[in-house]
Amino acid sequence: MLSKKELPTNTQYKHPKKIKGRFAPTPSGDIHFGSLVCALASYLDVKSAGGIWVIRIDDLDTPRLKDGASEQIIETLDHYNLISDEPIYYQSDHLATYREFLNDLIAKNLTYECECTRKRIRAIGGIYDNKCRNRKIKNGRTSIRLKINDQNEVNTFSDGIYGLQQKESYRASRDFIISRKDDIPSYEYSVVIDDFIQEISYVLRGKDLIFSTFNQLTLQKSLNIDAPEYAHIPLVMNLKKRKLSKSDGALLDKKNFSMNLYLALELLGQNPVEELKSATVSEIINSATINWKRENVPKVFNKHAT
Ligand code: GLU
Repeated sequence: MLSKKELPTNTQYKHPKKIKGRFAPTPSGDIHFGSLVCALASYLDVKSAGGIWVIRIDDLDTPRLKDGASEQIIETLDHYNLISDEPIYYQSDHLATYREFLNDLIAKNLTYECECTRKRIRAIGGIYDNKCRNRKIKNGRTSIRLKINDQNEVNTFSDGIYGLQQKESYRASRDFIISRKDDIPSYEYSVVIDDFIQEISYVLRGKDLIFSTFNQLTLQKSLNIDAPEYAHIPLVMNLKKRKLSKSDGALLDKKNFSMNLYLALELLGQNPVEELKSATVSEIINSATINWKRENVPKVFNKHAT
């Protein structure tokens, strides 16, 4: 594993450019149709460009983890020929690295401890007000936030599917948590470190994470590390018009892998030919890789999972 210590000590940490994408599920249950669409799109996007695709298991959020889910996810992806080109990366193997990068942020005076409860933040309207910025550090079990300032803030980025994104068009954002009260690195913080360590150049994921991208870019700037390119795809909805969730998992028909792939390709705007419905998984993946067109991915999926 590449740690920051092993990198050249000049201030900008850069990786050589190669095309590398990833799918990073949280093992809180097996994947459902929405995650299959996401995994498939990220796979095809990099494979069609001759790149490398890897699986990462985002297993830091221990309260959400389910026993056996990682193995189940990997096995399910395997049925679709979505196989990691590198040994699977588990976030839980990298705790020392998250700490190391955190020390860098602490040394740069970009962090502070925050004791505010969710209840307090809800009471002030749900957006944190940077209240603890000047608080004396008490070294208790508190969360750690990143200070956003004019030097590190990133307000815009170009999304590979949705085009130019401006932070203010979403909602106000304030200093955000990078290390949780239970000492677990936050999602936004850990993925930035992982994407860097794994040399990820393309992140393609669900649109629910598009707003979080601003914080991730802000962290990369704070750490002076390269940012990958980002693209977000629409979310697959359930019948209640909510994002498909693990509890809708039964919607992924486990016996009909080819049909699931066909339906996912259809949703992704790839116009798969009719014959693929009865083709083998590897024939479908090969054909989809050759014919992948990112520009055909719609901005909204107008079908829900059935
Ligand atoms: N682990 C996250 C999830 O399952 C996705 C992380 C990412 O793609 O950045 O929602």
